[in-house]
Amino acid sequence: MINFQYLRAGSTEKALALLAKDKNASFIAGGTNLVDLMKKGVSSPDKLIDINKLPLKDISLEEGHIHIGALASNAAVADHALIREKLPLLSMALNKGASAQLRNMATVGGNLMQRTRCGYFYDITMPCNKRKPGSGCGALEGYNRMHAIFGHSENCIAVHPSDMCVALAALDAVVVIGQPNGERRIALSEFHRLPGKTPQLDNNLKANEIILGVEVPLNTYGRHVQYLKVRDRSSYAFALVSVAAALELDGNRIREVRLALGGVAHKPWRLTATEAFLRGREFDPALIREAANRSVAEARAFKHNKFKITLAAESIVQALSEASQQS
Ligand code: SF4
Repeated sequence: MINFQYLRAGSTEKALALLAKDKNASFIAGGTNLVDLMKKGVSSPDKLIDINKLPLKDISLEEGHIHIGALASNAAVADHALIREKLPLLSMALNKGASAQLRNMATVGGNLMQRTRCGYFYDITMPCNKRKPGSGCGALEGYNRMHAIFGHSENCIAVHPSDMCVALAALDAVVVIGQPNGERRIALSEFHRLPGKTPQLDNNLKANEIILGVEVPLNTYGRHVQYLKVRDRSSYAFALVSVAAALELDGNRIREVRLALGGVAHKPWRLTATEAFLRGREFDPALIREAANRSVAEARAFKHNKFKITLAAESIVQALSEASQQS
């Protein structure tokens, strides 16, 4: 039994003020990850600051972008008419995440903040540099079937578990962050970190900050999008590999393209070099195959996850092909 204090914040200012008073305080909204972490002894905050009363559930069309409040539930975003019409890739990704019950509870901010599902991280009897810096990495020489093939370090080979974030990375989303003295914005692709020497840090949110929402630029991808998720159970499982693909086609010519992978790195893995390779070319199966092979050329696998390299390449081919055929 972990003792903690439960507090409610009625405004962003109040939430930040409560957070500033205690280094070991934590915000809670849907709690779909944090409660598990607390039950397993991975996280033990002194104070839980409930932020559900903050006015951060809005989903609105703004000048040049769509704003999504941090407390909008994953289900509300996925099913919102504006998102389905203007950002179908995001809607697809959200609907492939978790279960219907979890999507009803989980928030956009919580989805951004969710922690890896590496089994060694959740088992407090095992070494884990992310949970306890300097203790070692159980997965490195252990069972690493679900782990990273890009961007890992000798300190951590975990992957980020989100589907939503993979679509948002592909769509050039921006995270809006509240601070004691104002706001700042950071590209979603810069929000999450690679493990390097500090695997305990998942992202670049500072200790005195709160996520207010995300902004997604309006785009011209129309229906030529696909979020392909390969997982062990289609009902409810994290991705072995996922692909967010968006195409703007001019006849058969690829005018613009966005590609990002999930389940392969400590953050959503945007494939900008592949995008540059494809941009301006005629859509053709041989070209897509070459693009997929180039995308995984620098992948480095471990004992149990070598299959992910082939799986990622095949998934890129399938996602781009299906995106091109959507109408
Ligand atoms: Fe911990 Fe990362 Fe190693 Fe998993 S991969 S055991 S999260 S250090």
